[in-house]
Amino acid sequence: MGVSENIKHFLSNEIPSNVKLVAVSKTKPIDAIREAYQSGYKIFGENKVQELADKYNELPKDIEWHMIGHMQSNKVKYIAPFVSLIHGIDSFKLLSVINKEGEKNNRKINCLLQFHIAKEETKFGLSIEEAKEFLQSEEFKKLNNITICGVMGMATYTENEEAIRSEFKELVYIFNELKNTFFPVSDFKEISMGMSGDYKIAIEEGATMVRIGSLLFGARNYIK
Ligand SMILES: *Cc1c(COP(=O)(O)O)cnc(C)c1O
Repeated sequence: MGVSENIKHFLSNEIPSNVKLVAVSKTKPIDAIREAYQSGYKIFGENKVQELADKYNELPKDIEWHMIGHMQSNKVKYIAPFVSLIHGIDSFKLLSVINKEGEKNNRKINCLLQFHIAKEETKFGLSIEEAKEFLQSEEFKKLNNITICGVMGMATYTENEEAIRSEFKELVYIFNELKNTFFPVSDFKEISMGMSGDYKIAIEEGATMVRIGSLLFGARNYIK
C-alpha cells in the first residue's frame, strides 16, 4: 500500500475523529508527501529545521507543518513565518526566542511544552517543576506572540506496554495540573503523544494528537 492508502486506512480505522493525525514525513522525499497531499491530506511533521524549511518551499502552501523535533534557538527564524505548531518546547529560552520571531513575523506561534516522561536519558523535555517555575513568572506573561496549546511527550522505547501506559498517564496528569493552575480558559487543550509503536495506548490514555511516521511512509532508511 502507498502512503495515501495508509493514511486513509488510519483515519477510518485506527484513530477516532477527535484525534489529529500528524503524518511524520521526516527523511522521506517530496514525492511521497505530494502523493499524500494529492489524496487530500495536509498535516505533516518534520524533526529537522532545514529539512522542514526545504520541504515547505517545495510544496503547496496550505500544508499544516508541525515541527516535532528538538530545536536550537538560533534556527527558529527559518520556520517562524509558516510553522503551524512547534511540539518540542523544552526551555524558557526557546520560548522567548520563538516569541521574538513571532513578533517579527507579526503572528502568534502555537507551541506545546515537551515533558520528559521516558526513563531514557536521551529524550528531551521539561520537568513539571521547571515548567511551573517559568509559567508563573512575569517574563512569561509578557510573551504575546506565542500560544501554549498543550503538552507533548515521548514514552520509553520498550515492549513493556504497562511502562508505556504509565508514562502516558504521567503526561496526562501534567496536562491536567497545568491546565487547572495556569490555563483554565484558553487554547490549552492538546496532548501530543503516541508514535507508530505506541499510538494505540496513547489514544486509550487520552492523546489528542498522534505523530505517526513509519506506519504511513514505510520504515526510514538513514543510510544514504
Ligand atoms: C520520528 C518521530 C515520530 C514518528 O516515529 P514513528 O515511529 O516512525 O511513527 C514521532 N515523534 C517524534 C518526536 C519523532 O521524532
